[in-house]
Amino acid sequence: MTRPRQTTGDTPSSGVLEIVVPVPLHRRFDYLPPAGVAADEFAPGVRVRVPFGRGTRLGLVVTARAHSALPRSKLRRVTERLDDAPVIDASLLELLTWAADYYRQPPGEMVWQALPAAMRQGAPAATETTAFRATPQGLGTEPGQLSRRAPRQGEMLARLHAGPVAPSGLDEPGRRALRTLVARELAEPCVLQPDPGPTEWPAPAAGPPLAAAQAAAVDAILADGRRFGVHLLFGVTGSGKTEVYLQLIGHEVRAGRQSMLLVPEIGLTPQLVGRLRERFGDLLAVMHSQLSDGERVAAWRAAREGRAAVIVGTRSALFTPLARPGLIVLDEEHDASYRQQDGVRYSARDLAVMRARSLNLPLVLGSATPSLESLRHALDGRYTLQRLPERAGERRPPTLRLVDIDHHARQQGLSTPLLTAMQRHLDADGQVLLFLNRRGFAPALWCESCGHIVECRRCDARMTLHHAEDRLRCHHCGSEATPPPTCPECTSAMVPVGQGTERIEDVLGRLFPDVACARIDRDSVRRRGALEASLAAVHAGTTRILVGTQMLAKGHDFPGVTLVGILDADQGLFSSDFRASERLAQTIIQVAGRAGRGDRPGEVLIQTRFPDHPLLQQLVTDGFEGFARELLREREATGWPPYARLALVRAEAPSRAAPGRLLTALRRAGEEDATRLGVTLLGPAPAAMERRAGRYRQQLLLLADTHGPLQRLLARLLPVLETAPEARRARWSIDVDPADLM
Ligand code: ADP
Ligand code: ZN
Ligand code: ZN
Repeated sequence: MTRPRQTTGDTPSSGVLEIVVPVPLHRRFDYLPPAGVAADEFAPGVRVRVPFGRGTRLGLVVTARAHSALPRSKLRRVTERLDDAPVIDASLLELLTWAADYYRQPPGEMVWQALPAAMRQGAPAATETTAFRATPQGLGTEPGQLSRRAPRQGEMLARLHAGPVAPSGLDEPGRRALRTLVARELAEPCVLQPDPGPTEWPAPAAGPPLAAAQAAAVDAILADGRRFGVHLLFGVTGSGKTEVYLQLIGHEVRAGRQSMLLVPEIGLTPQLVGRLRERFGDLLAVMHSQLSDGERVAAWRAAREGRAAVIVGTRSALFTPLARPGLIVLDEEHDASYRQQDGVRYSARDLAVMRARSLNLPLVLGSATPSLESLRHALDGRYTLQRLPERAGERRPPTLRLVDIDHHARQQGLSTPLLTAMQRHLDADGQVLLFLNRRGFAPALWCESCGHIVECRRCDARMTLHHAEDRLRCHHCGSEATPPPTCPECTSAMVPVGQGTERIEDVLGRLFPDVACARIDRDSVRRRGALEASLAAVHAGTTRILVGTQMLAKGHDFPGVTLVGILDADQGLFSSDFRASERLAQTIIQVAGRAGRGDRPGEVLIQTRFPDHPLLQQLVTDGFEGFARELLREREATGWPPYARLALVRAEAPSRAAPGRLLTALRRAGEEDATRLGVTLLGPAPAAMERRAGRYRQQLLLLADTHGPLQRLLARLLPVLETAPEARRARWSIDVDPADLM
């Protein structure tokens, strides 16, 4: 028989708790447990309140240890324990602490962002009562054995033999006894609820019979079994990828296991949610940024407690705890919104791979335009590759054509061939979608006499004219101004130059006065419900011409759209960012994929000044895969990702010199190690837009063949950043595997 652990009195044996606190510091903190409580009574993943600085904070226990590197006299005590059972289970906590290390982000912030806001503020974790039940070892232990030395524990074990016990109904000594039994592995947490049980989930509604390629993909993924494996579902737009996900998820639901479906920010359309509801009814939990705190925590609890069978959400939903995990699906895996850029930085796609690995689950990555990273893994055989080469049903792929915009007359950026095609498609009862990734009326306000252009006071950028509101806006920092009635330099008239979506909508109204036209961009959908209303009008066919930005590019299935016009393919053609051409190709193919998804074939016109550009030529002739393979060869030859690894250290400050000084000091401090480790340092150099929101920005790029040396170097550089005197005058951040170098 094991001796009951000593839990009374404050002896060194009561141990130390390693705790993360949501502050921007790259470390964990040691605390003593409350007096008379042993550290190992705190399971990892439990929230606690701790004194911090002059106030108190909520934190989360990462681990209990016997000793601290600090003298005990320097350690402060946990003042309150919020949870009996972990709010973040062991595997999720491990993922989050791993991610904090990998991305060099403050561990407390990494853990905290994984919790719904209500949980961050201390709301209870469970909907139903958290309870405890005897472990097999506990069931095999005679309560009488304990009673002699620890009567309360014996009493409690006897109760546990009879069934789960909820701590909420217990007095403090009772709770203590329960915790001790947990620490001795005689009891374990469980959730008291009317457990629906896997078999009681209603069967999902049936979908359409699958096409051969879809069925082959589903079978191959199922045949791979219930273990970790990454499957890249590379299916052309409209090939029925979503239907493949739904079938796989349906399979999990029938087996009583949960699925997580992650989609890009703008992929979470009412249409997709509608399709999921139709199939899975109340078993669906939706997590997106527009939920209220209450709704969000309710969805989170439903997932954690195993009541929701299907969890659909954007990137942060990846961190939802699952009671019975079965499958993770990440749609449009190439999408930039999987990259968290503000606050803690991470890639939800890459972390999804880690989560699936730690849960030993299959992960499906889907895209018509996979990232070069995933494509490379698939071609190398690390991921399985499932192809859907054709559109679902009888639908044909759209035809793509380049239009040399310099060789045709045009009206506000709409070339004659495009206008002619629009008329033809409208006459044939088709709908038209025009894509322009620039909102507002005109990207510049310009003086024809002296050439003066209105620039943002705080950025190296022009102000965009928003005509209807009569405002100038900076799209980089949000600054606003009233458009000057005349040129501030020479008092001549100012004219808007270039086109944004607002101007296109305006000119369409004049060119097609009898045709209903709508615009979808961030400005037009600001009102709650506006996007839903606009999309519904497209589906109903009342809107015949739709003009919009990125928001229209993916996910949408508008069966009536037969013509897509890409108004300006040249944004990104000559960018300094090595990923720009990959991005451009993805956008073009995704937007083009909105054409011809119904019964009638689709046509795509791509307006460009550079119709002979090899990139555009190859995309139009060979499609995305041929293009991507060529780009992979190029990246391999030049030694860029995915054949190399990058990290970026950014610095910014109100003074022009400070960021460069910090990064130069950093470079000096790291140069020797970099050479030894085989890491190339590039910079410091100004960011593509050096001044933004009143701050000057510089960056230092770290480049290596593999991730290891990069991590070792970052480990050396982090203390330098934290202590360098130059760091007092500049803000810095680290971006591991940066999505862009701008
Ligand atoms: P993707 O996600 O690849 O863009 P979707 O799953 O949205 O494609 O499918 C495109 C269209 O084809 C949708 O209208 C969908 O309902 C339809 N579809 C998909 N699979 C089938 C199928 N097996 N039989 C009939 N229609 C299908
Ligand atoms: Zn002027
Ligand atoms: Zn600005």
